[in-house]
Amino acid sequence: MNEGLVDKLYLLKYEVDEESHLVIKDQKVCSECEHKPCINRCPAEVYSWEGDRLQVAYENCVECGVCKIVCPYENIDWRYPRGGYGVSFKFG
Ligand code: SF4
Ligand code: SF4
Repeated sequence: MNEGLVDKLYLLKYEVDEESHLVIKDQKVCSECEHKPCINRCPAEVYSWEGDRLQVAYENCVECGVCKIVCPYENIDWRYPRGGYGVSFKFG
């Protein structure tokens, strides 16, 4: 990850919900997904491939929406975190 982005991620504040707002609809679809673009395109490294499953570190999500757009199979059930949870951005 580039250093500028890492610095910016440190400016974010998270309230982590115990319930994921990113749900993979079907892991079988992921296993057959050739390039798995969610892994490389997510700026917060939320997705990783471990064993035979897509792991989702949803607590790191900065809610940019990229994964939903790049998934060729619309296999991510993406919602904004429940009220009061998720990322908030510091200004100044
Ligand atoms: S891009 Fe979609 S189908 Fe492919 S691995 Fe990611 S979530 Fe699964
Ligand atoms: S919404 Fe953005 S930060 Fe969150 S998992 Fe998707 S690509 Fe990553």
